[in-house]
Amino acid sequence: MLLAVNPIGIFFCNSVSFDIFKYNSPQNLFVVTIRKNGIFLLLFVILISCETNGTFYRIEDYSKVKKADVHVHLETERSLFVELAKEHNFRLVNVSLEYTKGWEDVYGKYSFGLTQHRAAPAWVDMVTAFAVSDWDDPAWESKTLAWLNSCFDAGAVGVKVWKNIGMVSRDTAGNLIQIDDPKFDPIFSHIQKRDKVLMGHLAEPKNCWLPLEEMTTNNDRRYYGRHPEYHMYLHPDMPSHEELIARRDRVLERYPDLKFVGAHLGSLEYDVDELAKRLDRFPTMAVDLAARMGQVFYQTAENRDKVRNFFIQYQDRILYGTDLADNGERTREQLNQAMEDNWKRDWEFFVTSNTMESSLIDTPFQGLALPREVVDKVFYQNAVKWFGLVD
Ligand SMILES: [Zn+2]
Repeated sequence: MLLAVNPIGIFFCNSVSFDIFKYNSPQNLFVVTIRKNGIFLLLFVILISCETNGTFYRIEDYSKVKKADVHVHLETERSLFVELAKEHNFRLVNVSLEYTKGWEDVYGKYSFGLTQHRAAPAWVDMVTAFAVSDWDDPAWESKTLAWLNSCFDAGAVGVKVWKNIGMVSRDTAGNLIQIDDPKFDPIFSHIQKRDKVLMGHLAEPKNCWLPLEEMTTNNDRRYYGRHPEYHMYLHPDMPSHEELIARRDRVLERYPDLKFVGAHLGSLEYDVDELAKRLDRFPTMAVDLAARMGQVFYQTAENRDKVRNFFIQYQDRILYGTDLADNGERTREQLNQAMEDNWKRDWEFFVTSNTMESSLIDTPFQGLALPREVVDKVFYQNAVKWFGLVD
């Protein structure tokens, strides 16, 4: 234990010496030994847990530390979500996507993001999207490139592709459109050329290919219970998780300089070792944590050291995000509650070593107590770096 401490000093008083060391722990633990004429007399420890400038943040530091949530969906023009986010000291990246209505979704969701960005440019950035609903139209490529240029010129920092690619959208012949189709090449080259981020929610959590009772998290069980159309265990004719990930990886192989943020832990949420392999293989890949904290908690309950080491080793490649959304319907209290439930829970998890419980999983788990420089990167600096945000 003494190897892990920092000597503070040795003090003398009437031939009695006091040796004081500070132990590196989430709290401030001081170890004091008292000796007289070199003879050890007494050892005691002082625990001070109210310091602010130590190696670790405290729960109470939450409001004063700058943070970013890189994965929210503001589908409204009202400013309420952003006002509340300011109170929590969170800046936001609003993410558009092609949902079920093709370009209509893209234009609509992006336009909400643009309105929010213009109203609070220091607080809201935007990721745009494009649709594949007219995939076989000869004008698709030029239309998509022109659209992306107009979004980039208005300040968009990235482009989202969603799980409809690979799992839902089909060409006119009825084949699923896949992300490694060479027809995407001019689009990805262009995103790279404009130095923007490709954000990919490709595939689904691995739970999606398991029966409900074998899933590891309660939120996945609830979601696929409600959305049997996305529950791949029920659709054995559809591509496997492995196939969809392999296709995504093929794109990253083809574009080694493309900045890629794998949404939802890059759909490798089930095992930090599996994710680490991809981060080693693709140096321009990062991941966001949106809607996958349950999987992080699950693995932490099983092996906290492994998960903690993962966050420390890949501290430059992990971006905090939640998937929080506002469609204009919830009250101020309800929205604020959702922020507290997610943002404050995750702050406690990352900065303290508290024993915690969450409705996402059935077992308790212990916070990671990450060093503050790692917390700063995951909660803020990585967002600025990967998306090129104005700090
Ligand atoms: Zn999302």
